[in-house]
Amino acid sequence: MEAFIPNHLFNAIMRHAKQVLDAERSVNDIQIKKEFAFYSLSKAESLFEELTQEQAALLKPLTEIKNEQELENFKESLTSYIYPFPSISEAQLKKMFKKTKKLHPPELTDKKRKQLTYLSWLDAGSMKKFMVYEYEGKLAALKGSFLPSQKKDICHFCNQVTDVGLFTVDVTLNSKANTYKALSNYICQDAESCNAHLTNTEKLDYFVAYSQSAKK
Ligand SMILES: [Zn+2]
Repeated sequence: MEAFIPNHLFNAIMRHAKQVLDAERSVNDIQIKKEFAFYSLSKAESLFEELTQEQAALLKPLTEIKNEQELENFKESLTSYIYPFPSISEAQLKKMFKKTKKLHPPELTDKKRKQLTYLSWLDAGSMKKFMVYEYEGKLAALKGSFLPSQKKDICHFCNQVTDVGLFTVDVTLNSKANTYKALSNYICQDAESCNAHLTNTEKLDYFVAYSQSAKK
């Protein structure tokens, strides 16, 4: 069976799995626990447009989770089927960010690529944040300023309350007329943590689509 679970859906499945374990611990009624476990499984299944029998069978043990070890085993069983973030060479990145002389992207191991929905890093010297995201089959590159916030707030992408910063990207409205519009959102300071909390890509899609569409 080939990899079919993108990082954010893996996070979403594991969130349902964790809830099954929480219910196992906090609910007394066996019938209610069982119903909740199957409800959670249906939620996990509905994350996918369609599932083959084999893929569905992989998710099924979610209903059986009764302790930390079983949660861990379930997580392990999915790991081989996580769809990795594309492998990008430094030369490709240089092409994507032509105007930037020195790029300092993080090193991407195979394991790391499986933990990414989007790739991002901050250049602390210039306080520019770089972002690469696969949108509609193409790699989109975004670069913007990043201003860390003093207080915690909700990340626009992953929805967790955390240390955030204001990410501002200039969107070209009309390149001939040289008009721009700033697109700003509070997002996680720590991209690794953001990727670990993302359970859907709705906001990320919108952000990237908006910034890209204006360029065309
Ligand atoms: Zn986030």
